Amino acid sequence: MALKVLLVEDDRELRQTLRDALTVEGYDVQTSASASDASALLKHSISSGAAFDLLLLDLGLPDGNGSDLLHQVRNQFNLPVLIISARHDEDHKVHLLDAGADDYLVKPFSISELLARMRVALRHRGTSVQAALTSYQSGHLAVDVTKHEVRIDKRLVKLTPTEFKLLARLVRQAGQVVTHRQLLSDVWGVEFLEHTHYLRLYMAQLRSKLEHNSTEPKLLLTEPGVGYRLCEPD
Ligand code: CA
Repeated sequence: MALKVLLVEDDRELRQTLRDALTVEGYDVQTSASASDASALLKHSISSGAAFDLLLLDLGLPDGNGSDLLHQVRNQFNLPVLIISARHDEDHKVHLLDAGADDYLVKPFSISELLARMRVALRHRGTSVQAALTSYQSGHLAVDVTKHEVRIDKRLVKLTPTEFKLLARLVRQAGQVVTHRQLLSDVWGVEFLEHTHYLRLYMAQLRSKLEHNSTEPKLLLTEPGVGYRLCEPD
């Protein structure tokens, strides 16, 4: 059965382009040009027993900025939310990620990028076993969360406990962006939210141990102004 996607985007041209592209990929796409209309569609989807599997949400909408809708979704539904934003929405984007959006794409983005992010978000929600994750393997990297073992190309890499915690947190959301705030609170604790220099320091250490070339990271990617992403090859 086709996965149902709700696309909320007020730009008519982009809405049609995305709808067509996603339909070709086999998604069942419904569209909406406003937050209020999207909210009605979401409510209807529940009462009609045909819930959406994913929400694509533009931030700049004629009747709101996406926040209220995200709030409603987080309270009432369990579906992944991908934010579609323009570059100037930066602050807002971080706010929405902290509020529980799964990921974001900055316009203009390629369809293949969108599809890849959608797959990651759907997989994370579909499995919902993030807390129970015991091992992770992708590309050169292998992490045994239970044994606290990390390998690059099968070679054991020694990490400090904090480095391991940071890596494990990124592994839990592999392929998705994790905000500075989420990393600081989960690795160091909520009282460390302002200590972004910890992140820079520990990320540099992790890169020097895990990347082939730490000045050109391929694994631990920086999302400027937002956070970090553990790159997951398709
Ligand atoms: Ca817009």
